[in-house]
Amino acid sequence: MLSKLCPKLYVDSLHDIQLSHLKDIGIKGIVFDIDNTVTMWGSNEISPITLKWLEDAKASGFSVCLLSNNRRTRIEDISRMLDIPSAKGFKPFSAAFRSALAVLGTSPEETAIIGDQIFTDILGGNRAGLYTILVQPVSTKEFVTTRLLRGLERIVLKRLACHGLLNRG
Ligand SMILES: [Mg+2]
Repeated sequence: MLSKLCPKLYVDSLHDIQLSHLKDIGIKGIVFDIDNTVTMWGSNEISPITLKWLEDAKASGFSVCLLSNNRRTRIEDISRMLDIPSAKGFKPFSAAFRSALAVLGTSPEETAIIGDQIFTDILGGNRAGLYTILVQPVSTKEFVTTRLLRGLERIVLKRLACHGLLNRG
């Protein structure tokens, strides 16, 4: 169980991820969580450094798509703003990841997911066979159930670190 909760890479934020590293390990498609990964929770604001990283990813030839558990209207707003398509479904369920792979046109081994939550982004991504990257949440503001899960996440991260399983990028 612990291994399914373990991200392949753990970084502070999106722009700490080296696109060249993803290329080197055969990644062709990237799935992005929205809230607290790309934007602040519930906000449409995206920092210039994040925007630049997303543009660089597109310019480098990666297929990209958004996958979020938030409301459809919000997902579509961000999708239009970034000019990045979105997949449907609820993480961590596998249908959501199948939808993302269909949008990207990549296989699980060629695909990375980047998100800030262990029990949705990382667990679902690992089960679907994707390369999972955990980022620190952009802000501390979040949905009430998410806040409750953060305590559990801290325990899991400590455990993973103790077992030497965390690959801190
Ligand atoms: Mg999130």
